[in-house]
Amino acid sequence: MVAPSEAPEDLARFIELINADRLFERELPNLDDEVDAAMGDPQTAPFSTLRGLWTRVCGEIAGTLSAETRSFLGPEAALRQFQERYRSLKVARQAILGIARSYRNDTSKHARSSADLIVRGEWLSEDVPFQVGVGLVVSASGQLAISEDAILNALVGVRADRIRSCAICGRIFWAARVNSECCGEVCRKTYNQRNSRRNRQRGRMRNPPAGFIAQDAGVKPTEPYSDGAFHYLDRASGVLKPLAV
Ligand SMILES: [Zn+2]
Repeated sequence: MVAPSEAPEDLARFIELINADRLFERELPNLDDEVDAAMGDPQTAPFSTLRGLWTRVCGEIAGTLSAETRSFLGPEAALRQFQERYRSLKVARQAILGIARSYRNDTSKHARSSADLIVRGEWLSEDVPFQVGVGLVVSASGQLAISEDAILNALVGVRADRIRSCAICGRIFWAARVNSECCGEVCRKTYNQRNSRRNRQRGRMRNPPAGFIAQDAGVKPTEPYSDGAFHYLDRASGVLKPLAV
């Protein structure tokens, strides 16, 4: 199974919006709650229509968001479209973060190839924790049909294990390579420096006899070491070697 080097366009768009507003570390406010709060707030300037209040609240929220997200949501005057896209973004955020966390929480991921994990059904065998509402439309022939859903269109069929959050900054990224843990060059350098520092510290703290288990030392076994066997770092040669058990 070969994953494309870039995320499919629709998914890339959602990832871009999540990163633009740092939604990987905060939730978008709930529109209904914000409108309720504005209605109950004596400081709220008088409003003549409920629609007027909704538009104003949506405009205030849009004002706190990035230009990318505002252009995705469209003008708040087109209230219904704004509300639908806002809810899509909230659900997409929940789904994409859930998928990325499933990858990060899976401690066995370094031991085997990702294709192996999927075939064995050991990863994401549980439901991704989100639900989408399915819209029904009446087709031209009068039959009920499922309406287009932006999030399902963006997600169904893509490689789940390539949707990841950066080990350093938390941004969501598409992993072009199976062993990518970082969103880009800068974070990758920090990640490598941290790992090598940790390895040196551990090396000083302990004086392992013949060898030690590679994973324990923070040495990440990559694809060539994906046979499920433990490896140790041979300190004399600096090479990972299989550990005879
Ligand atoms: Zn990063």
